[in-house]
Amino acid sequence: MPFLTEPEPPRGVALDVLPGIRRIVARNPGVMTYHGTNTYLIAVDDGLTVLDPGPDDPVHVRDILRAADTVPIRRILLSHAHRDHLGATAALQAATQAPTSGFHCAATPIFTPDLPLADGDTIAGLTAIHTPGHASDHPAFAYGGNHGAKILFSADHVMSWSSSIVNPPDGDMRAYYASLLRLLERDDTIYLPGHGPILANPRALVAEMLAHRRHREAAILCALRTAPASVADLATKLYANHNPMLKFAAERNVLAHLLKLHAEGITVENGTVWRMA
Ligand SMILES: [Zn+2]
Repeated sequence: MPFLTEPEPPRGVALDVLPGIRRIVARNPGVMTYHGTNTYLIAVDDGLTVLDPGPDDPVHVRDILRAADTVPIRRILLSHAHRDHLGATAALQAATQAPTSGFHCAATPIFTPDLPLADGDTIAGLTAIHTPGHASDHPAFAYGGNHGAKILFSADHVMSWSSSIVNPPDGDMRAYYASLLRLLERDDTIYLPGHGPILANPRALVAEMLAHRRHREAAILCALRTAPASVADLATKLYANHNPMLKFAAERNVLAHLLKLHAEGITVENGTVWRMA
């Protein structure tokens, strides 16, 4: 797939992305996070909106406060409650007294947004587009801003550098497909993801991601028609990479496909082995 790469961004500084939008790349690089989580600072009439505080790292919180400088942080938005996005929320809120906002039904009991959002709700010019799949509580945020471009903060649903892990039970492959289809029906011109650089012409990548998952699903069915198999067997057969973290992600993605196929009446599980229904 035509994923984007970028050199390691400078640390501790807010990088200009688009007029009125900056990002700070957190210091949590990894095989699942690329160079780190993107924390976005969005300039609005009353000050700043921070989208995704990032990991629990006091240095990152200091970087956010430093980048805001004298401009007040008015609200803290969360794309989903995974810890690489949620971790710094409490510390940032303690430092700013800004209310938090996120999907009304958070996937973890450790986070309750002060201002809960439902699909279609708008806050500070950002409209929540519920896009479950990677996480059940995941909205993307559509933003008209003042740039002429139709911007979507796509968070971890669609990233420029990699496909997303769909990790059951909160990750749901049927929801993920539906959320990709939902984005294909939109006409956003730029995505700003939760990890990785700005993505222009995003619908081409979304279409490829959907095709890639359908191809993977077909390969799983092809294997199961030959012989029943475990999740680990299928992941080894279908994925070339042997990095232990990526192996974990591969197995979770395979399981998510199998659960989707099971919900559709196509596969069944027998102990640890899956076969055609
Ligand atoms: Zn993330």
